[in-house]
Amino acid sequence: MVDEEGKIVVSNPVAEQIFGYELNEMIGLSMEQLLPEQFRSGHVSLRKGFNNNPSPRRMGTGRDLTALRKDGKEFPVEVSLSFTRYNQKLLVMAFISDVSLSKKAQEALKRSEEQLLMYAAELEKKVEMRTEALNNMVGELEKEVLERKKAMLETRKALEKERELNELKSKFVSLASHEFRTPLSTIMSSASLINQYKEKSEWDKVDRHVHRIKSSVGHLTNILNDFLSLGKLEEGKVEVKIEEIDLHSFFQEIEEDLRPTLKSGQQILLDYQSKPKSIRTDSRILRNVLFNLISNASKYSEEGKNIYIKCDFGENEINFSIRDEGIGIPEQDLKHIFERFFRATNAGNIQGTGLGLNIVKRYAELLQGQVTFSSEYTKGSTFTISLPI
Ligand code: ADP
Repeated sequence: MVDEEGKIVVSNPVAEQIFGYELNEMIGLSMEQLLPEQFRSGHVSLRKGFNNNPSPRRMGTGRDLTALRKDGKEFPVEVSLSFTRYNQKLLVMAFISDVSLSKKAQEALKRSEEQLLMYAAELEKKVEMRTEALNNMVGELEKEVLERKKAMLETRKALEKERELNELKSKFVSLASHEFRTPLSTIMSSASLINQYKEKSEWDKVDRHVHRIKSSVGHLTNILNDFLSLGKLEEGKVEVKIEEIDLHSFFQEIEEDLRPTLKSGQQILLDYQSKPKSIRTDSRILRNVLFNLISNASKYSEEGKNIYIKCDFGENEINFSIRDEGIGIPEQDLKHIFERFFRATNAGNIQGTGLGLNIVKRYAELLQGQVTFSSEYTKGSTFTISLPI
């Protein structure tokens, strides 16, 4: 406790111990003697300021305070100030704590914090570098895995394709050995009958058997063509060659080629808008498709039943529909009609392989088009192919 002039009037034993004085040795000293030389003059005016406006407060907030021991050593302190009056004289009390230890601890803490931060930064860098290396490695590995997967998938696909082709081939062999037998024996018997009728000069019978031979050969050719087309489709070997085709002559040719294969009394009746006169498509594929559909219409109709072909233009497409008044397709068979080797239950002994419509569908898809159909059992069927124009 100091008086207005800054002379120490009371000090407790702890204060004497902190500052290194003997018992009561501090009494009468100037307060400034407890400060390092360089702070003394400044402190005098600070003290006067406090005396003019005394209030309990902390001293030197935000600043490090340093005190001086009797032996000349300096040490950090924290000081709180208060005051009282005695006989109208101001007495100022300073509560002083030696904070050397906590200061040291703080500094050590700060140092170790700094070190920690440094380690952390280094660690972070290392982790970053390793992560990058790892990421690169993972990237490489992922790439490799992907490539291997791709290779595996391709191999599997190729194997699958190979298997399908083999299956198709063996199916064809069994189908051919079965389907070829009838036309071949017809050809054989007609040929020997022709010999007999020729000797007897029965020329109309000779003609009939020549016709039978021709249609059997035609049938064999159809089977072979179907299989050839399917093989090419399976192997992805069908190339689409777009060209301008004149519809009128295109239909005329088809009609002429098909006429000899029709049953007696059957006719192909064509109904088509003359505009536009030509379209751009692959003529060979379209011809194949129409040939197949018209042959079916004839094959699955009785003698004397006509085949109606309609060709009309939509906004963005051309539609060819082939209608017959034949045996139709039973309800339960409708959904299988485009499946390979499928034949409807009412096909009976009408010759066929069950490949034609499957080929038609795939050809239509090659031309970005589609095939649809409607059929009524015993009444007739209509198959429509739509191609974009
Ligand atoms: P195929 O005629 O050689 O048997 P398709 O694939 O051309 O083979 O036809 C599959 C089946 O669909 C035929 O077996 C037949 O049962 C039925 N089908 C196709 N077209 C017609 C049609 N116009 N009228 C009635 N049935 C048909």
